[in-house]
Amino acid sequence: MNRLPLPMIEFRTALEAAFQGIADENRRDLHFSAFADFAQLEKAYCDNAVAGSLHAMSRVASGPADPVVLGGLHKSDLTALYSKYFVPAEKPARRLYEALKVTANGKCPLCGGVGHVRTLDHYLPKANFPLYSVLPKNLVPCCRDCNTEKLNSFALTADKQTLHPYFDADRYFTERWVDAIVIVGKIPVIEFFAAPPSNWSDIEVSRAKAHFDAYGLAAKFSVEAAADLPETIQTRVTTMAASTPEAFSSYLSEKSETLALPVNHWRRVMFAALARDVWFCSQTFLQT
Ligand SMILES: [Zn+2]
Repeated sequence: MNRLPLPMIEFRTALEAAFQGIADENRRDLHFSAFADFAQLEKAYCDNAVAGSLHAMSRVASGPADPVVLGGLHKSDLTALYSKYFVPAEKPARRLYEALKVTANGKCPLCGGVGHVRTLDHYLPKANFPLYSVLPKNLVPCCRDCNTEKLNSFALTADKQTLHPYFDADRYFTERWVDAIVIVGKIPVIEFFAAPPSNWSDIEVSRAKAHFDAYGLAAKFSVEAAADLPETIQTRVTTMAASTPEAFSSYLSEKSETLALPVNHWRRVMFAALARDVWFCSQTFLQT
């Protein structure tokens, strides 16, 4: 939903910081030698991310099995790099964890800023892609809801991949693909849905919809809109009480266009939907 700049922190920097936290010297050395080809691993990730084929990267099966994955390191060693040596406050790598978290300016990029950034999400889950457990380009700042909603799920096909804020095409972030309609009622409800432009490819359409569904954006946006709508109705019954439906529609349309928010932000989409809705614009709301 929101584009993020590619992290400036290199894989080598993240690995070395995590390794520094390993007290046992032999184990530390084992990690250094196992990751000698870190540059190749990072390149493979970036190439696949740019090509939209991260789903096709080789993965480790889910479950309790703990196979050797890289140079004598087991899956559990690699996932521990993150949980034991990257996240804990007393470890040297924690400053990198914090540095990655602040790049989203506090707004979760996965739900378009509904939630505040509280954690990092592994785009490719570490349980299945443990080689990338501390790759900064695989770590996306996000809110707790989005992190919980996704858990360890990942796409098996290209068209089911959620959007990657660091890598995916600009059009997902600069073209409008979220839309909404007004459900008429004593208290109107705004219903949101994914509606990508007709000139998008089938995979682009499917990915936008997969993202919208994976993070439960219809429900999240609708709740936000419900809390926000009374303010607009209040404007209608006070400062704009004498306005024609057309003038009120223009006011709403202008709000949708001028808010300093990303194009698919629920608030901009909501105002566009309200502006288009003949019923809403012609209401005086004096009885509400
Ligand atoms: Zn979120």
